[in-house]
Amino acid sequence: MRYALISDIHSNLEALESVLAGLSKERIDKFLCIGDVVGYAANPAECIEIVRTLRCEASISGNHEWGVLGLLDAEYFSEDAKAAVVWTKGVLSKADLDYLNSFKLTYESRDFVLVHGSLDEPQEFRYIYDSSQAHPTLESMTRPLCFVGHTHAAGILYFAGGRIMYEGSGAVSIDHDRKYIINVGSVGQPRDGDPRASYALYDTDDKKVEIKRVAYDMESAKDKILKAGLPKRLALRLCEGR
Ligand code: ZN
Repeated sequence: MRYALISDIHSNLEALESVLAGLSKERIDKFLCIGDVVGYAANPAECIEIVRTLRCEASISGNHEWGVLGLLDAEYFSEDAKAAVVWTKGVLSKADLDYLNSFKLTYESRDFVLVHGSLDEPQEFRYIYDSSQAHPTLESMTRPLCFVGHTHAAGILYFAGGRIMYEGSGAVSIDHDRKYIINVGSVGQPRDGDPRASYALYDTDDKKVEIKRVAYDMESAKDKILKAGLPKRLALRLCEGR
């Protein structure tokens, strides 16, 4: 089985289309979506429609889904994020909101689990930036693999020889006796210094996880954010990858 994993699309249609164009050249059996389909950029409804047509094996909820559904306190969000949540809520249909409301907080399969933030308390949407923040998730894992998003920084964290190792990009061979936290990065607003859209592939037969990057039409995405009247910073940060 070959999975394509996408997260943090954040209403960036150009980035999502580029990722799917890249994936169309590969054999993909199933899609998995790790949350934050909406928020920040200008095409939430279009991105929801595409995710719906991917018929994902699982599509789980991020903090921006919870934001537009009114399930998360406004204080949780930064000023720019709050503005994006309000704007996004205003342009989505009842059917779009119902669809987002169908997302669960986690999804478990035979050898992996999906969660947007951290696995110990998924509803808190905590960030995993370093090994100390990774511990509660590693301890909560009953499967070898945990795929996450949320930080918009792609990377693979795993235990080896009693130490936590980190792989920022590329491919990792999976040893099922170890535990791995795999951040698939962000499709629509990368913040790890590489502005290209990020996604991951998981091949269960080859036992390999690979993080991939693809360029997209950033200028068009930026223009639309500005024309929509969303905070300017949300447009500018796309080319910085921060
Ligand atoms: Zn996000």
